[in-house]
Amino acid sequence: MWTSRIFWRPLVLFVLLIVISGFIAHSMMSMLQRQQLIDQLDLRLRSIAVAIRPQVNEHLSENQEVAIDSFVEDISEQTKARITIIKLDGLVLADSHQDPTKMERHNQRMEIVAAIRSGEGNSERHSSTLDMDMRYFAIRIGSESNPIGTVRVALPTSEIDREVAAIQNSIARLIGIVTASGVLICMIIVAWMTRPLTFLINETRELTMGQLGETVNLTGGNEIDELGRTLNELSRELATRMAMLEDNRGQLLATLEGMDEGVVSVDTDERIRFANEAACKIFDLSMPDDAGRPVWEVMRNQIVESTIVDVLASGETQRVEIELLGPPQRFLSTTVSSVPGASDGGVILVLHDITDLRRLENMRREFVANVSHELKTPLASIQAYSETLLSGALDDEQNNEGFVQRIVEQAERLSALIQDLLSLARVEAGNHPFEFVDLNMASFLQECLEYHKSRARKREVELGLVLRTQDVSAHVDPEGMRQIMDNLIDNAIKYTPAGGSVDVELDVDGDDVHIVVRDSGIGIGQIHIERIFERFYRVDKARSRELGGTGLGLAIVKHLAGAFGGSVEVESTAGQGTSFIVRLPQC
Ligand code: ADP
Repeated sequence: MWTSRIFWRPLVLFVLLIVISGFIAHSMMSMLQRQQLIDQLDLRLRSIAVAIRPQVNEHLSENQEVAIDSFVEDISEQTKARITIIKLDGLVLADSHQDPTKMERHNQRMEIVAAIRSGEGNSERHSSTLDMDMRYFAIRIGSESNPIGTVRVALPTSEIDREVAAIQNSIARLIGIVTASGVLICMIIVAWMTRPLTFLINETRELTMGQLGETVNLTGGNEIDELGRTLNELSRELATRMAMLEDNRGQLLATLEGMDEGVVSVDTDERIRFANEAACKIFDLSMPDDAGRPVWEVMRNQIVESTIVDVLASGETQRVEIELLGPPQRFLSTTVSSVPGASDGGVILVLHDITDLRRLENMRREFVANVSHELKTPLASIQAYSETLLSGALDDEQNNEGFVQRIVEQAERLSALIQDLLSLARVEAGNHPFEFVDLNMASFLQECLEYHKSRARKREVELGLVLRTQDVSAHVDPEGMRQIMDNLIDNAIKYTPAGGSVDVELDVDGDDVHIVVRDSGIGIGQIHIERIFERFYRVDKARSRELGGTGLGLAIVKHLAGAFGGSVEVESTAGQGTSFIVRLPQC
């Protein structure tokens, strides 16, 4: 309250008003009082003058000027007034307080002039004779047509001045008391009046600082209380609105953060205003630390920059595809649109990562090219041998059987290729008709090895089985499992030169069944290892074809192992051998 201007201003005004009123009252009362005293004095002077006029007239008419002196002194003694008798020509005949011979002529004195002219006159001035302020009253002696002189009665005004000063003191004291009480009352009234205003000011200040919902308790019925209640309502309403806005903002942020698409808000100066989690991941940003960084510094992409400039200028949405060199390399479909209705403008970028889509498209394109190529080779061979036979080689008894044999081989290759493609397509599509059973791995592997034994023997490769555990089963489709093992064992025999060995090992590692197909063959170079499970990928294409490979075996193995909830890995050193490790969940 003591620091509040709203308290001090009216208080100072009130106090000023009281002091000025007191001052005016003091002056007016002093003036009135003095006038009253002067009137009383005039009355007294007049009564004396009127009372002695007949005797003075007598003395003057009878030329008893000497007797006048003692008469004047007598009257002065009785009345304490100064009595002066002046002849018509201004000569002072007698004076109670001064020797008349030493006095100058008095015919120019104001009161004398007035008395001669109208019968009586008065004035107030400093008496040079007595050296004090005096009040004079003069009355004419003789008739208006035949004046013979004047009687003047005077009394000093110092008495009046003393009385007026005493009255002024009392009035000043009274005004002092009234002013002090007035100030006190003013303070109480102003404090009482400004208290609700102070409350309102404090609440408004809290509102501006965001402390919504707080209320002032003003229960009265005046306008300020009404204003307070309105402010309370406003505060509550604002609190509700703010909560709603905060809620909406939270939902919006949660939605933005949960989006797979990157969302970046950019201001008119092409600086990042906001980026959601997906966008932060793409551009390696952290919010809010990176807010305010220029787009060119963050995205380093000319297309994005120029598109932002275009959209800022035209306000029209644009869609572009950009490539981030990485690593990792990424392709982003980017929609740039201007921020609708925002006062400070800007653009929003929505970035959709289409890297996987692009890779799939490439893979599909490559796959189609590979399939066409793989099919073309055996078909071309079949066509060539058939045409040769038709154009006369049928009768060539030395070679015709060989030609037909080649046709059969190529047809078998074609069939193997189509078989592999079909099973790969089925596994990939997820509609392979699997029949899952708990398969005992030890006996299953024995059977598999039995099947490949004769081929291994033919290629002079030693085929062995190491069972580190007997009693272990996996929940798999036997047909699919058979395909996995046939492919791996077949490859191991194929890529192991005569005199080498292929070992199949069964073990358990925690919850997993481990099947390792290890050979001492040609091995796989480090640069090929990563791509070995891709469709049609072959280290040595010619050798693979020669050995009847389709380039799809390992791709099928990988997909089947995945379909059984397992995985396959390869470890190899070129020239020293290869190990394929199949992990399957144990049941
Ligand atoms: P392919 O029908 O050509 O054997 P795969 O998909 O089965 O096709 O194998 C892909 C390629 O992996 C083969 O062409 C071969 O170069 C290499 N490969 C597979 N298994 C072995 C192995 N045990 N030793 C050496 N290389 C192998």
